[in-house]
Amino acid sequence: MDKIMSVEIRNNETGETRYFMEDEDTYESEDSIYFAWADGNYSCDCNRAIAFARAGGDEYGNLIDTPQCGHGKYTVPRIWLMNGTVINVDVDLTTYEVALVFYRMSSNKRAEFFNSLADIAYNWLTPLPSQLEAIINRKSLTRGGKEIMRKIGEYSSDGRD
Ligand SMILES: [Zn+2]
Repeated sequence: MDKIMSVEIRNNETGETRYFMEDEDTYESEDSIYFAWADGNYSCDCNRAIAFARAGGDEYGNLIDTPQCGHGKYTVPRIWLMNGTVINVDVDLTTYEVALVFYRMSSNKRAEFFNSLADIAYNWLTPLPSQLEAIINRKSLTRGGKEIMRKIGEYSSDGRD
């Protein structure tokens, strides 16, 4: 059982950050907290707007405008739990940061990264070859980027399976 101590909520229009103290709900696990804020009810701007208002001292969460459903108006970077755990919810990394995270991984982690990519790619609506072709056709792909893709293809098709 986990309890939330504080939810960091940023209003992306004003840049203001508030800390929402949720005092009632107890969750089964960290995963269920993550799910509630990443995919569940609290992933929606309408509920985040109410939490943001309450965090600003309005205990009823009354708002001047009726909160609209959607995503992107509020960002939840972190949730602190009573047990000291920090959960990262909305992580907005730049492409450079994503590449840097990959660069700093061990070989095992990089292998797991490709396994995860395979799991995710399995659910894409457009098949992987079409996705790869779309990347190759981008004018934004530099010679260096293309070379990395070519090398990955070359080294991963060395006959071992
Ligand atoms: Zn909503």
